[in-house]
Amino acid sequence: MSMIQLHQQSFVFDGHCDTLGAALPGPKYRDLRQWGKEGHLDIPRLRAGGINCQIFAAFPGGERLQACATSASLERVHVLLDLVQSVPDDMCLIQTAEDLVALQSDGPIGAILGLEGAEALAGRLSLLHIFYRLGVRNIGLTWNHRNAAADGLLAGTQAGLSAFGRDLVAACNELGVMLDLAHLNAGGVADVLALSQKPVIVSHANAYALCEHPRNLSDAQLRAIAANGGVVGVTFVHQFVASERSQATLSRLLDHIDHIVQVAGIDHVGIGSDFDGCVPIAELSSGEHYPRLCEGLSQRGYTPPQIQKILGENFRRVFLQVLP
Ligand SMILES: [Zn+2]
Repeated sequence: MSMIQLHQQSFVFDGHCDTLGAALPGPKYRDLRQWGKEGHLDIPRLRAGGINCQIFAAFPGGERLQACATSASLERVHVLLDLVQSVPDDMCLIQTAEDLVALQSDGPIGAILGLEGAEALAGRLSLLHIFYRLGVRNIGLTWNHRNAAADGLLAGTQAGLSAFGRDLVAACNELGVMLDLAHLNAGGVADVLALSQKPVIVSHANAYALCEHPRNLSDAQLRAIAANGGVVGVTFVHQFVASERSQATLSRLLDHIDHIVQVAGIDHVGIGSDFDGCVPIAELSSGEHYPRLCEGLSQRGYTPPQIQKILGENFRRVFLQVLP
């Protein structure tokens, strides 16, 4: 079987993109139903890349996080709900384990709606319930700053979860919302792993042992996430692949996958591109490039079942365990 065939037959799941921000009304608007000249992802490129399920973050953007995170997140939620409604043959909203199981490779692409940063919840569980009713099933507790739930890793503190953060973890467990630890500081990561009754994800991060960026995960964190049953989405962000731009290659990204497989195990690695939210590595700089990852994994000696775990089966497993 060729790698293209293996890729096409695999369930491919991307744990993070910021594409919704590109489809807001305004001068930079992109119609996500068309293959865009700009950006990284849209429906045609998700199809060309063989993506079956994509987490879309309703990320307000760093500057808007403090000022108007709730309304800015709601606008992005609306972009996705509107898109799903306008092209039901191409995209469907995943809200339950049953929805995820029902995805077919020739059917609509599954979209999981996420928040990136609990800022949008304004410290209130009632807002979690509203976002849940709108379809949100993945919550990144922080972006880079402090919020009512926890501290992001640029807050420069050692603090763990606040009382609200602890309540939020319990409420997400209860409702069936995935907890996403990307951007969370070390104290917060440790607290969530101690508290959560369900597997968690780190939707977009790499291995600190290979690239000393604060967003990357230490070996101890990788082992702790494996012990929780969770999954880390390796990301294409060039700064998280290598500190030197010229070294940030697909080969180096595959080194990160090899490392996480060695430290955490083959069941705990996935993909989280961060498309439309970053400058990705050149070889994976647009949605249609995904099959190159499959090819690279094969060249590294991974078997088809192992490749399929990395491409999407691991993320599918944890979402099936968490979604209602
Ligand atoms: Zn991010």
